[in-house]
Amino acid sequence: MRVVVDQDLCGTTGQCVLTLPGIFRQREPDGVAEVCVATVPQALHAAVRLAASPCPVAAIRVIESGAGDDERASADPVPSPAEAERHAAKDQCNPGGHDGTV
Ligand code: SF4
Repeated sequence: MRVVVDQDLCGTTGQCVLTLPGIFRQREPDGVAEVCVATVPQALHAAVRLAASPCPVAAIRVIESGAGDDERASADPVPSPAEAERHAAKDQCNPGGHDGTV
């Protein structure tokens, strides 16, 4: 599971941060919410859903990774060398694997 905050929508109420400070935080200058983790630990999935639902502006989006993802991954063919090279180059642009959801 991943969770993202639409920072253009965030109303800076801080409700999500108060509910789950290990997942959400507020930016120093303006109080806009950010997500602190790239992926949500399994143990916190239910808590994240609960924290997201009362957001007054619906700025929090929970992205479930379901069985469909696993099926798709196993059905994918082995990448061609060119495709593997393209993925490797892309990874170098993002060496930490960070997805931008800070
Ligand atoms: S609950 Fe919603 S509006 Fe309030 S800080 Fe979190 S994301 Fe922003």
